[in-house]
This record gives sequence, structure tokens and C-alpha cells, in this order.
Amino acid sequence: MVVFEPLPLITASVSIDEHHLIIGTHSCPQSIKKIKTTIAAGATPILINPSHESHIKEISSIFLNESGFQLATRGFQLSDLTTLGRTQVQRVVDRVFINLSPEETPLTRKIYEQCVKLRIPVNAFQRPEYSTFHMIPTFTDPKGSGLQIAVTTNGRGYILANRIKREIVNKLPSNISQVVTNMGAIRDQIIHEDHEILLREKYLKTELSRDKLGYGLDDDTWESHKFNRLIKEFEMTNAEQKLKRTRWLSQIMEYYPLNQLANVTLDQLDENSHTPINLPSPNNPDNHENSQSINPETPANTENNSEVQLGVHLRSKSPNSIGKGRISLVGSGPGSVSMLTLGALHEIKTADIILADKLVPQAVLDLIPQGTETFIARKFPGNAEHAQEELLQLGLDSLKQGKKVVRLKQGDPYIFGRGGEEYLFFTQNGFEPLVLPGLSSSLASTVVSKIPATQRAIADQVLVCTGTGRKGALPVAPEFVPTRTTVFLMALHRSDVLIKTLIDAGWDKNVPAAIVERASCPDQRVTRTLLRYVPATIEEIGSRPPGLLVVGHAVNALINDSNLQFTEASKYYIEEGYHEFEMNFDNLLH
Ligand code: SAH
Repeated sequence: MVVFEPLPLITASVSIDEHHLIIGTHSCPQSIKKIKTTIAAGATPILINPSHESHIKEISSIFLNESGFQLATRGFQLSDLTTLGRTQVQRVVDRVFINLSPEETPLTRKIYEQCVKLRIPVNAFQRPEYSTFHMIPTFTDPKGSGLQIAVTTNGRGYILANRIKREIVNKLPSNISQVVTNMGAIRDQIIHEDHEILLREKYLKTELSRDKLGYGLDDDTWESHKFNRLIKEFEMTNAEQKLKRTRWLSQIMEYYPLNQLANVTLDQLDENSHTPINLPSPNNPDNHENSQSINPETPANTENNSEVQLGVHLRSKSPNSIGKGRISLVGSGPGSVSMLTLGALHEIKTADIILADKLVPQAVLDLIPQGTETFIARKFPGNAEHAQEELLQLGLDSLKQGKKVVRLKQGDPYIFGRGGEEYLFFTQNGFEPLVLPGLSSSLASTVVSKIPATQRAIADQVLVCTGTGRKGALPVAPEFVPTRTTVFLMALHRSDVLIKTLIDAGWDKNVPAAIVERASCPDQRVTRTLLRYVPATIEEIGSRPPGLLVVGHAVNALINDSNLQFTEASKYYIEEGYHEFEMNFDNLLH
């Protein structure tokens, strides 16, 4: 059984100009490391009470030219804590690192007690009992993007934490520095250009406050449940119009393949831009020889990311390059490659051009052969109609050029995917699509979260509906049937209104509910609660789109867990992650 213990609060401390006292050099390398990290944080390290003559020499030789570094070769006295600090804080030092030998434990204890009294954060090397904070193994991007990743197991092994940190870092795309730098630059520019105008025009004061923008400056106060908030495309206020780029950027950061974020430009966030976001397909050596750039205007991109090829490519062996174009509308399933149909895989592998929805899972996009022209719809709040037209037009133009067009849609094309409209559009334009069903998130989400949508004596029917009707209006509330499992798609961003409508319409407010997010993806999250606690739960845990809501007694039919006793004080229960045991598709797919 897991016993929950209090967990330390992880923060990033701004330390510029602070005075950090390092007492002793029992472990010389440790002291050197502390001095280095202190300097890197913009603080002044003051080393006092070096343990050995040779340490003084070694440390002096390394930090001789560091202007901020101070060394006092004398012994330590308690008054140092309150005399070596900055004048602004009445000379109390800002932080203390103790590095004394085990024989000096009484002194370590004394310093620790005094620091606690004075509220000075203190860390004693290898003595957690005399520390009020611990250093965490941290990865700091050497290219200076500002990215830092820290991992702690809270006393279960520094080495293990270090190893986990390395594994995480290894999984990041190789261009992660550019991703962070590029997104940061675009975000800054938008904040300056758009928000400042708004602030000046007092929009923010009257109509929108900064928190409604969907993010704050502090990573932790970023309110993810707000960023997906519905924007009524046809009734956007002036201020909302101006904040569009902000929202688009948030969406891009949330949904787009991570490695592609290095290449997004501010231009592409301009609603008048006619360039859809071109997704260079990931490297797939198997298809390499099949692809060659035939457009001299858009040569293969050799700069900054060798995996990336920009521009228009036709595969020379394409059977569809000549003759009449052909189109298929293909469902790509909810997320996991294991839920992709063989038909969908065939279409992805043989397309000349792929027009993908924003939600198409990364794992599926990764299967697109290199050289296949790929576009992702810019379907962001406030741009859905425009993006849809843009994509359909691109599809039609490609068909007229005789290409094989694959319209890749998330889940099933005909379940809230506008597949029907697209079928009509292309058919009316002379190209009847082949439509391939996909596993809909509405029915896969239940399975991966241990919910049998029907179960004898518990649920004998299933309803799939939306929480958001046309143009943002609430749909008619479905009737409450106790033996029914109801799945609400597109329902989480305005759950307060939805749940109120349901309860007003006679739904049992204590019926079990599950918020299933990123179903079948590695970062899947399933949150069980009761219908009435859904809005408060979302407010608290934020959102991890895409997600849906499952309501009905089937939600807990397979689970007998004391964690499911919900009260005001304990409103929900979360399960993280999705594992497919040892499924490996490499041999099957490539
Ligand atoms: N055609 C898709 C649904 C498109 S509507 C399908 O059949 O699955 C988009 C909505 O689907 C999202 O708002 C969310 O409610 C739901 N959704 C899609 N993928 C999901 C996933 N992996 N996990 C949870 N919900 C998902």
C-alpha cells in the first residue's frame, strides 16, 4: 500500500544579488559545485571556514577572477549569519550551505537551528535532518534556452532521480532548445504587440483580465482549463479578436508535434496568412529514397534540424501522380497506434498529401513517410470555419492536380468530425471520397479507463453526444436514464453550464462521472468523481485536452476502491498513464 507523506514544495528561487553562505569544504568538489551554481543563479557565494589548506588553493585558482566570489579563510561564527548579508535585508544572509565533516555535527546542528530561527533556508551536505531544502538533480539546457528540468524522488535515491532525469532529457527532441527559444520569442512578441495595445485601450480592464488570456507568467498559475474556453467565432468582441494570436499560440504549444514548434513563425498566426502550417514529416529512413524535392523554390531544409524537410515533395513512384485525383476520409483512432486500422495505415503510407486535423495523435503523424506533404489544420478557437475552408480548398486543389489526398481525422470521421460535410463538399466537386471508419474516442475512452459502456444489470444503453452545440450553444439536455452510459464530447471547457443544465433537467447529481483525457496516449488521465463535482474538479486539476466526460453507473462498475468515496473535501480520484504492456509495432509498421 502506498503511504502518502507530505511532499516538499518545489519552487524555482530567483536568487539574483543574494548572498549565499557556504560553510566548510569537507567535500571540496561539492563546495566548488555550490559556488558555480550560486554564481550561475546570479547570487554572490561567500565561502567561509574552509576545511583544508589545499582546498583554499584549489578553490581560489578556479574562482580567482569571479568578481562576486568572496572567500574568508577564518573559522565560522554564528554572527556571520546576520552580518554577511545584503544591506536591504539587514545583513541576514539569504541562503546557507553547510559542508562540514561528521565530527563537526554539533556545529552543523547549531547552524541549522539558528538558520531555522532566522528563517534562512539551510542545506547541510548529506544531512537531510539538518536541511530545510534540498538540491534537486537538474538538467539545464546548455544552449541557454532557459529550459530546466528537475527530478526528485524525495529521499529515495539521488542516483535514481539523476537517472530518471537523464531518461527524460533523452526523450526530448534534439531541437528542444530551438523549440523553447522560438516559442518564447513569439510569445513575448505577441504579449508586447497585442496585450500592450489592449492594456492601453483599457480592454483588459473592462472586458478581459489577464487571467482570461489563459496563461499567467508563472507556470504553475497557468490555468489550462481556461485556454480551451470556447470562443464564439461569430460573436467575438473586439478584444477577443485581438487576443486571437495568444490563443492560437497556446493551442499550438499544446497540440503540435513538439519538434515542429521550433519552426512555427509569427506569420503563421496571422489570420490573413494563406499558408497553412506545413508539417514536415518526421524522418523515416525506409521512405527516404522515394522522396525527392522537385520544387526548386523549396529545397530540403538543411538548417537547424536535419530531420525536417520543408516544402512541396512528390514521391516519384506515386501511382497517383498522373491521372485523376482520389480522396479518402480516414479515421485515425483516439491516440494509440494500436487503435489505428490497417486501412488507415495503408492510406497514410500511400498518400501524396495528408490533410490532418489538429487532434490527430502524434503517434499516428509519426507514421507519415518522409516526403509526404502534410498539413495540419489551424483549427483554433475563433478560426474553425476559416481553417476548415482552407483545408478543403487545399484538398480540392490537390485533387485537381491528380494527387492522392488523405484527409486524416481524429477518432471516427463521422462522429463529430464534420466528415459528413466534407463528404458532401468533395462529392459535389466531382470527387467522391472513400470513407474509412476509425475507432472513436467516445467508445475507446471508456475501455481504456476500465468502464464497460454496457454491463449487465448496470447499463443497457450508450449515448454519445456533445457538450457544445452549433455555434457554441448548449445542446438540448438528454434525458437522464439510470441504466445509460452517456459520453459527452467537447464538454470540458464549459462543464459548469453543462452540469447545471443536466441537474436542472433531472439528472441524479450523485451519479458517477469520469473525465477521460488523452485517452490511449501515454499521458492519459482518468479522473473519477460525481456529476455534481465535475466543474470543481476541472477547475482544480486543469485540463489536458482532448478530453471527454463519461457519466453513468458503469463508470465504477469494475472498480471497488475506497478512493471512490467522494466528499466535499475529497472530490475526485485520478489515475495517470496508459500502458499497452509490451506492444511494439516497429516490425509491423515500417
Ligand atoms: N471524431 C472524433 C471526435 C472529434 S470531436 C472521435 O470519433 O473521437 C473532438 C472531441 O473528441 C474532443 O473534444 C474530445 O471530447 C474527444 N476526444 C478526441 N480524442 C480524445 C481522446 N484521445 N481522449 C479523450 N477525448 C477525446
